[in-house]
Amino acid sequence: MSVPMKKSDPAYWMLEEGLSGKRKIKKPEIYSESCYICRDPEFALMGLPLCYSCYKCGAHVPADDCICDNGHDQESMDNPEFAEYCNNNSNSNNNVEEKYDDIQF
Ligand SMILES: [Zn+2]
Ligand SMILES: [Zn+2]
Repeated sequence: MSVPMKKSDPAYWMLEEGLSGKRKIKKPEIYSESCYICRDPEFALMGLPLCYSCYKCGAHVPADDCICDNGHDQESMDNPEFAEYCNNNSNSNNNVEEKYDDIQF
């Protein structure tokens, strides 16, 4: 018998973080039988990044790597999702610096 997960359970916010967190560009909809991350359901339960499909050929890309099964590098500016991810990242870094400027010691 399974008990419903409580909001106070630490695993609960990890789940939510995993769904709405920073690594939104990853689309966990790909499965490879030879991949230990795909085969282990605990990765999904813990909200850890899951494997995703290559932007170029749609092949499996392991969550702990950025090279698809056909050798395409996902962290390339040719990848529109990665380019956008980089842009978003540099924007948020700028915001942090601006905030620090306002702090008086
Ligand atoms: Zn996988
Ligand atoms: Zn590929």
